[in-house]
Amino acid sequence: MKIAVYPGTFDPITNGHLDILDRAVKLFDKVVISVARNSSKSPLFTDDERLALLQKAVRQHANVEIDSFQGLLVDYARAKKATAIVRGLRVISDFEYEFQMALTNRRLHEEVETVFLMPNEKYTYLSSSIVREIARLGGDVSDFVPKVVLEALKKKLKPS
Ligand code: ADP
Repeated sequence: MKIAVYPGTFDPITNGHLDILDRAVKLFDKVVISVARNSSKSPLFTDDERLALLQKAVRQHANVEIDSFQGLLVDYARAKKATAIVRGLRVISDFEYEFQMALTNRRLHEEVETVFLMPNEKYTYLSSSIVREIARLGGDVSDFVPKVVLEALKKKLKPS
């Protein structure tokens, strides 16, 4: 059984993330999409909110597990019996950081390979940060995120 972990901050999950997930499920027997509970970033959505959005946005697939993790990704991958880490590559500027992470993770745990997938070109410019920025400024992000995320953004950014 080939298992992959797809980790990310997912603040919030976008159609670009879902595109990568759709590709990954075709390659692996099981994909664990997992929210990094990351204290060094200060996300718009809390860890639990990001996890709840994943649970609502990800279509129920028999071979997709939704989870969250803390600590070293390679330790988590090992615990999940994953042999691969899935990451999305949009543009060359993603590459440097991803390359460094992939080689570091390999150094920490030889048995886990990082697999890079490219999204449909219509998502190559899309990121959670651009979605947050547009939504904050009152723009329409309905083409970029699933409906549940759209609602959550409206609620979160509603002027009080
Ligand atoms: P992180 O903070 O770990 O980079 P993100 O949630 O920003 O988490 O992204 C998780 C993964 O999804 C990363 O590999 C990122 O490159 C990828 N990703 C994000 N947006 C897109 C997109 N529009 N198309 C393809 N991959 C994407």
